[in-house]
Amino acid sequence: MEKRYYPLSKYLKETFNKKVYKITLDAGFSCPNRDGTISNKGCLFCDEVGSYSRCNDLKLSVQEQIKLSIEKLSLQFGAQGFIAYFQSFSNTYAPVEKLKEIYDSVFFDDRIEGISIGTRPDCVDGQKLDLISTYKHPTIEYGLQSAKDETLKLINRGHDFECFKRAVTETKKRNIRVCAHIILGFPNENKKDMLQTAEKLCDLGIDALKIHQLTVLKDSPLDKIYKEKPFYLMDESQYCQTVCDILEILPKNVVIERIAGTGYSETTIAPKWVNRRFEILNMIDKILIQRNSFQGINHK
Ligand code: SF4
Repeated sequence: MEKRYYPLSKYLKETFNKKVYKITLDAGFSCPNRDGTISNKGCLFCDEVGSYSRCNDLKLSVQEQIKLSIEKLSLQFGAQGFIAYFQSFSNTYAPVEKLKEIYDSVFFDDRIEGISIGTRPDCVDGQKLDLISTYKHPTIEYGLQSAKDETLKLINRGHDFECFKRAVTETKKRNIRVCAHIILGFPNENKKDMLQTAEKLCDLGIDALKIHQLTVLKDSPLDKIYKEKPFYLMDESQYCQTVCDILEILPKNVVIERIAGTGYSETTIAPKWVNRRFEILNMIDKILIQRNSFQGINHK
């Protein structure tokens, strides 16, 4: 069934005219919000693997991780091309010479069609962005989570929305794609706050978006807080309705890279529904059909 929003799979097919998949990588970076440079606590929702998807063996080199994933994705899905995605921690948090060495290393196989780099907006500068702009099909994935400064403070992000804005502007100047990550359901936010975050991202002209629900992960700072004093978490219906509201205000050409969690039940403390990924995706499809709606219908 054709989606009523613009999924990553469609974007990749249209762009490369073949089956292209992202390969998640851990290159051993750290994060200034965990190593004491900004703080040693980390963002409240972040667990000990730095938002890593747990798809690869953490002890493998970047090239070994790529080789393994190419083999697996080719066999399983008939993948013909790949985007090297540096996912865990802050993947621009090193001197530019070191970054060059690591990023260069992914292009040992002709089937690597591009590079995607997850990082914090305060971990880039002109020199690093200039370097990233030299690679094939570059994307930077910036964690923002919310455009509300009060929330950013509450979750210990260590940067404000202005910082994100500056980073996005400098990134787009260099023709690097921007994917923003946001989280829905912070206890201090209502639907208006969440929609305002989406509107501000539209104003900045982001190219892609990942939406997550607030999840209490085992061993994250939030885990301790939640166990001491459980707070309200969105239910699946509220989450899906809000996702649809956001899809409706985004431009049609913003690529939706994620709207449901990856579902690792062993590390999810709450809410448990996040692990029912396909049910959540189906619910979002159904709501859009019931509303006779689609991405961009309310975009101004
Ligand atoms: S910036 Fe990313 S890696 Fe660092 S603490 Fe926050 S979520 Fe974790």
